[in-house]
Amino acid sequence: MNVLVINCGSSSLKYQVISSETEDVLAKGLCERIGIDGRLVYQPAGGEKEITEASMPTHKQAIQMVIDALVNKKTGVINSLDEIGAVGHRIVHGGEKFAASAIITDEMIQTVEACSDLAPLHNPANLIGVRACQELMPDTTMVGVFDTAFHQTMPQEAYLYGVPYEYYEKYSVRKYGFHGTSHSYVSKRAADILQKPYESLKTIVCHLGNGASVCAVKNGQSVDTSMGLSPLEGLVMGTRSGDIDPSAAELIAKKEGLDLAGAINVLNKKSGVMGLSGVSSDFRDLSSAAEEGNTRAAIALKVFNYRVVKYIGAYAAAMNGVDCICFTAGVGENDGYVRKEVCASLSYLGIEIDEEANKKRGEEVVISTPDSRVKVLVVPTNEELAIARETVMLVSGQGAS
Ligand code: ADP
Repeated sequence: MNVLVINCGSSSLKYQVISSETEDVLAKGLCERIGIDGRLVYQPAGGEKEITEASMPTHKQAIQMVIDALVNKKTGVINSLDEIGAVGHRIVHGGEKFAASAIITDEMIQTVEACSDLAPLHNPANLIGVRACQELMPDTTMVGVFDTAFHQTMPQEAYLYGVPYEYYEKYSVRKYGFHGTSHSYVSKRAADILQKPYESLKTIVCHLGNGASVCAVKNGQSVDTSMGLSPLEGLVMGTRSGDIDPSAAELIAKKEGLDLAGAINVLNKKSGVMGLSGVSSDFRDLSSAAEEGNTRAAIALKVFNYRVVKYIGAYAAAMNGVDCICFTAGVGENDGYVRKEVCASLSYLGIEIDEEANKKRGEEVVISTPDSRVKVLVVPTNEELAIARETVMLVSGQGAS
């Protein structure tokens, strides 16, 4: 079966067509600037990337363009839409309602809408993508795969905030965590690579991209993770502050003449390594600037690494040990310097890094030495493949993982 995987944002949409038999990507790309002007990027497997500037006022028109590209006689990868067996949609927030992926029905959509208070920027955009696909492919089964679902196994002591309990009961204020599809995929892959049973491993996954989070996976279940009610909590990220004393938001608002939403926007969009360095949110730019003597870029990298080290320590404590640490996502897969610096602070765990292995980029590799007490791996994440697998499992009636 071919699965169309859709990750829909408010003005952009990423897509892939994946064959479930071979797990090959048949085509992938994205639509950008939906509702503004419009740009389609389309790349068939082994073919050239095509970029088309074309008006796409709505998501439905954007998805229609994707479909047209997929069935195009010359560069398409399928003959007709009948060759798409199912659609898997990434949905950011499932609240406490979804501990697993789910087949999309009217009732399911209503339940996701009820979670929209928790993700006002993301969930409505995800659902626009769902509805547009439903209109264009009314007979095709669709599945929602949630960023939060994997973390629903966290115990209460990990997910409750120290605020009045009735806010949890009335407003669902608690830690949910994100990047769940990635943390689940990477931790399972690590167990496979190490040839250890997933159900008996203590793994810490560091998903370090523009958005970044750490997850403690014990016996195959997420027991804690660094993002919270929203993706703002936890690590210092590209542009997000991560953990901060909430009083700082009040002070920033007062001094900058902002309301609370304005101050939170600063913490989401103008903070992190970007805000600290004043250079960039991109680690390649930060490394170059630091090498050229930019001290703020250098300190931004140190702050980033230090927070990762602290979370690894916290999660080793939370699990009463750790067998394996994984690095993934843009920074985790490519930036040997960050991995080296983080691991250098973990010698108390008996971690030793193989410098040569750590030079590799973007591939599955064990970067710890054979003697290292804790295994350290780079495992490139593949959220689209994980969504496609979940989709096939649900469509074939096997239930979600
Ligand atoms: P997201 O999905 O959260 O947007 P990614 O996982 O794609 O992010 O990561 C993007 C980030 O990865 C970039 O902002 C950049 O900081 C970092 N990155 C990508 N390639 C490299 C590289 N070769 N070296 C260092 N950092 C890199």
